[in-house]
Amino acid sequence: MNPLTDQMTKCESCPRKCRVNRLQGETGFCRIGANAQISHVGLHFGEEPPISGTNGSGTIFFAGCNLRCAFCQNYQISQEFQHGTTQTMTTDELAAAMLRLQERGAHNINFVSPSHVIFQIADAIIAAKEKGLVVPVVYNSNGYDSVDALRQIRGLVDIYMPDIKYMNNELARRLSAADDYADIIPGVLAEMLDQVDHLEMDARGIAVRGLLLRHLVLPGHLDNSCKCLQFLADLSPYIFVSIMSQYSPQYKACDYPEINRTLRRDEYDQITDYALDLGLENAFIQHLASHDHYLPDFARKHPFNSASSGRRGGKRERFDRDVVK
Ligand code: SF4
Repeated sequence: MNPLTDQMTKCESCPRKCRVNRLQGETGFCRIGANAQISHVGLHFGEEPPISGTNGSGTIFFAGCNLRCAFCQNYQISQEFQHGTTQTMTTDELAAAMLRLQERGAHNINFVSPSHVIFQIADAIIAAKEKGLVVPVVYNSNGYDSVDALRQIRGLVDIYMPDIKYMNNELARRLSAADDYADIIPGVLAEMLDQVDHLEMDARGIAVRGLLLRHLVLPGHLDNSCKCLQFLADLSPYIFVSIMSQYSPQYKACDYPEINRTLRRDEYDQITDYALDLGLENAFIQHLASHDHYLPDFARKHPFNSASSGRRGGKRERFDRDVVK
């Protein structure tokens, strides 16, 4: 079988469809060529409880991105490629990194920002499985994925963990330079759900398979959050969704007055109440006072040293404010 990366001679790995020849060193919107660029590999304890568990999630952070989110908290590696924050990895090196995380006890291998390197990742998963990888593979994306590419990697990913950022193309254009995000995301989520179904956990509460959505509530854009949650409720009331309050004005957020602040409690309450009203039964919510706990610094050897695992989880009953906030 030819490596999946072979088809990057006219790259359509993501919805941008730049059609550049990445195998010859050309780069498109994501600015990443033939090999993936890795910014951090390590156990991470700040994900949702079924993902981090007790041993941690085996995260692999990729540099570059196919979005340009003005508020990106990982802008050092997604947009600026700051000196010393990235390292090129071949397929075999990426597979070896996965196996080392498994040896360290990771509950899963968690690919963070994988959309623009989906085929490099797929080839590495195949290589790692041949060498003994058995823990679940998590595809932790911004949701701006190619449905065709996802179909081609069917069977390689156990847990899809995409964002649903927008159900408003104008907002997606303004804040993330993706004027078709709201058109793309429904097909992506339908494909992911078809491949892995709803989130399943083992007896310890650790995720083994399925779909877990994430939605970051943006200050001043509650209508967008409501539309995203409405879409998910229509897709399935049993869908697992993490409603995130951790927004912090990073990167170029200061250029957009309405998002140049953290989220207020009343805004987050409004959105979590709305999710409850919609009948979304499986939701994770966060402590509101945790904005800075999640901010990494990729210029450090251990970017998440000051991060806490403040994300809280629970089913519908844990939406009760007295319990979770
Ligand atoms: S993965 Fe990169 S080069 Fe390929 S289509 Fe997307 S943005 Fe363009």
